[in-house]
Amino acid sequence: MEIYEGKAKKIIPLDDGKAVMEFKDDTTAFDGRKKAQFRGKGWLNAQISARLFKLLEERGIKTHFIGVAGEDRLIVERLRMYPIEVVVRNVVAGSLKKRLPLEEGTELSEPIVELYYKDDSLGDPMINHYHARVLGISEEEIREMELIALKVNEILRKYFAERGIILVDFKLEFGKNERDEIILADEISPDTCRFWDAKTGKSLDKDVFRFDRGDLISAYEELYKRLTGEA
Ligand code: ADP
Ligand code: UDP
Repeated sequence: MEIYEGKAKKIIPLDDGKAVMEFKDDTTAFDGRKKAQFRGKGWLNAQISARLFKLLEERGIKTHFIGVAGEDRLIVERLRMYPIEVVVRNVVAGSLKKRLPLEEGTELSEPIVELYYKDDSLGDPMINHYHARVLGISEEEIREMELIALKVNEILRKYFAERGIILVDFKLEFGKNERDEIILADEISPDTCRFWDAKTGKSLDKDVFRFDRGDLISAYEELYKRLTGEA
């Protein structure tokens, strides 16, 4: 298997069914049209992801996380990835404003789960169960991913709330292992979640970069501090 280099990470296959996941300092937004590098972002996202995967494992969610292998590297179980992004939302923000007549910041009466097809040339379109089945993903698999995503939401929402942070929305990816189990994969970080300070409403995530809301590294460091209690 070859090394895969994506926009934010590198996947380096090992020969025992594992892989090294290296987090880059590169950031992109708006389908890759906006780009920048932030020294230290790879480290922060790797460490934050590691913490959150550990937490989820402790609460019974199967993840690809095996261990930390350096500042910006994790060891993960290598999976056959589904070409799908599963987004969960608790509060109105981002692209949801184009879909529902609700204002930014409105708390949803129940979480919303959305599916997107991962394809840059199509602009990652939102899809439904019919599209997913035509793509070769069974109804059972889709439902399982949605159920896991909702469980992850319950765990993380509470965990962040206890630390003064609102989990607004986030994106998950899943893959299948050798035993055909569906496993939570990729990353869970301020690049892939929206986190708002519960007191000030300030973004502690990639929106800082998307909308030029100040210093990205300070925001990610603040999140890391709340998560771990470490400076
Ligand atoms: P992109 O491919 O969208 O540019 P990244 O730079 O984040 O994104 O690249 C990481 C790639 O690794 C993604 O394509 C993701 O689906 C894939 N991936 C995540 N976890 C695993 C895993 N455990 N095994 C194999 N591939 C994975
Ligand atoms: N997201 C992501 N990768 C994507 C698209 C979205 O990690 O390719 C995350 C994004 O950070 C946010 C959530 O999914 O936490 C919902 O994103 P939204 O649909 O609002 O899109 P965006 O604001 O990125 O256009």
